[in-house]
Amino acid sequence: MAESHKKRIAIFGSTGSIGTQALKVIEAYPDLFEVEILTAQTNDKLLIEQALKFSPNAVVIGDEKKYEGVKSALLSKDIKVFTGNTALEEVADFDTYDMMIAAIVGFAGLKPTLKAVEKGKAIALANKETLVVAGDIVMQLAVENRVPIIPVDSEHSAIFQCLVGETRNKIEKIILTASGGPFLGKKPNFLVNVKRHHALQHPNWNMGAKITVDSATLMNKGLEMIEAKWLFNLTPDQIEVVIHPQSIVHSMVQFEDGSIKAQMGLPDMKLPIQYALTFPHRIKNDSPRAEFRKIPNLTFEQPDIKTFRNLSLAMQALEKGGNLPCILNAANEIAVWAFLNNRIGFLDITAVVEKAMQTITYIEKPNLADYFESDGEARNFAASLVKM
Ligand code: NAD
Ligand code: MG
Repeated sequence: MAESHKKRIAIFGSTGSIGTQALKVIEAYPDLFEVEILTAQTNDKLLIEQALKFSPNAVVIGDEKKYEGVKSALLSKDIKVFTGNTALEEVADFDTYDMMIAAIVGFAGLKPTLKAVEKGKAIALANKETLVVAGDIVMQLAVENRVPIIPVDSEHSAIFQCLVGETRNKIEKIILTASGGPFLGKKPNFLVNVKRHHALQHPNWNMGAKITVDSATLMNKGLEMIEAKWLFNLTPDQIEVVIHPQSIVHSMVQFEDGSIKAQMGLPDMKLPIQYALTFPHRIKNDSPRAEFRKIPNLTFEQPDIKTFRNLSLAMQALEKGGNLPCILNAANEIAVWAFLNNRIGFLDITAVVEKAMQTITYIEKPNLADYFESDGEARNFAASLVKM
């Protein structure tokens, strides 16, 4: 701990939905936290604003064209500015922080997170793609370095919270809840015409564009099944998905005596972020409280995996393992990007992912280099399908 006994936080992806909400939590507890590192890919304006407000030791701007501008804006504050391919890993290698909030979106979050784990830093993990791609390697490295990986994803935070005090007890299964997204109940004849702006309207959560599309296709829940497998050391048959449109029950754990614990609350990502920052403690906040007298219906139903085929593809990847989740993830990142740029339709996302899973060579026991190679191959293949 620092001399001040404040927890020194490094936010990787500070300009995103999770990053900005993490800064709100940090701002509310100036005696507990200080900001050590902030990173952004393109949003130089917000990064500068955040840096001037929170005075970190260092920032990273991914887009090299914006480096000079950021550097000159932060000159008077003595804040180090980094850019370039290895910048994220370089700052993840610093000694001067206690916890990384991994809030970069996609595969890009893997390398800096691995570096932080190698350094023995605690991780508050929002970036689920890191575990989808290389969960075996990340979790093994975390065990070797005695690094806590505390989930920020609301479902996994819920499960993590349900497991407090249960270390001796076996999990029979977990029940991951899914809101169902904006197209719950819709069929392919509707989905075929869906456009970017429809998919970006999530009923309960306000999130970055990629995860919002993933929530609309149910790929997000598939990625979360794989994330849960690694976080909680589960087999595929222990992971169940149930649609719960109200997003009040954030997920559940069923134990061997049939008893089920659920973690509940209003949908607000600041709550799992705060819990990850303060674990094992809970600290008071003034966020709105769930009022059950005003929420008369909590409903649960089966996911429609025949319509939302991304979820069934992710289940296949979960079942088969190896580099298949990595291939699924890479193809999905490209396909979602293409959809957001109006190059392909909503249902084409599934077609791209499925073709990549059928085409890229399967590796049963990949090493880290294999994951990087499979990611690259799947990206190139998916890009050729969407004519990038
Ligand atoms: P976002 O798009 O709002 O923000 C992404 C952040 O990552 C930005 O700061 C951006 O600058 C940075 N970034 C993007 N591409 C990058 C690259 N190639 N290299 C380095 N940095 C890059 O995304 P988000 O919604 O905040 O999600 C972040 C992660 O958290 C995702 O993995 C998502 O699945 C997960 N998550 C988000 C939510 C949510 O409510 N937003 C909930 C659960 C999990
Ligand atoms: Mg989630």
